[in-house]
Amino acid sequence: MKIYRSKRIPFKGFAAINLFGFIVVRKGVFANETLLNHERIHTAQMRELGFIFFYVFYGLEWLIRLPFKGNAYRKISFEQEAYDHQNEPSYLEVRKHFAPYRFYLLKRKKKKTQKKRNKTKRFDPTL
Ligand SMILES: [Zn+2]
Repeated sequence: MKIYRSKRIPFKGFAAINLFGFIVVRKGVFANETLLNHERIHTAQMRELGFIFFYVFYGLEWLIRLPFKGNAYRKISFEQEAYDHQNEPSYLEVRKHFAPYRFYLLKRKKKKTQKKRNKTKRFDPTL
């Protein structure tokens, strides 16, 4: 993995960016193992989808999430996977294909199941 240093890339507030598998780290930022693992996960996502589709889906998902509550960037499926597993050095060895979407679907399913349980509890006469 090739790492480049830049004064201007990525934007202020971000430590690093993965551009087609090349990592650009902002000058003055220490590229620790967590950061590099985060970017490695993005590289795996890019290879799986193809670089163009990755950036298109990434951008679309960000735009769709932008008007909603919370940080749109952190809610992007690709980012959720990367942030959730950046501290697991061996994650890429066990990672399943299309993991960001599996993660998103599982999370929605969990929420639905949780809502059903809460509803059931509310109307349970034994409580
Ligand atoms: Zn990221």
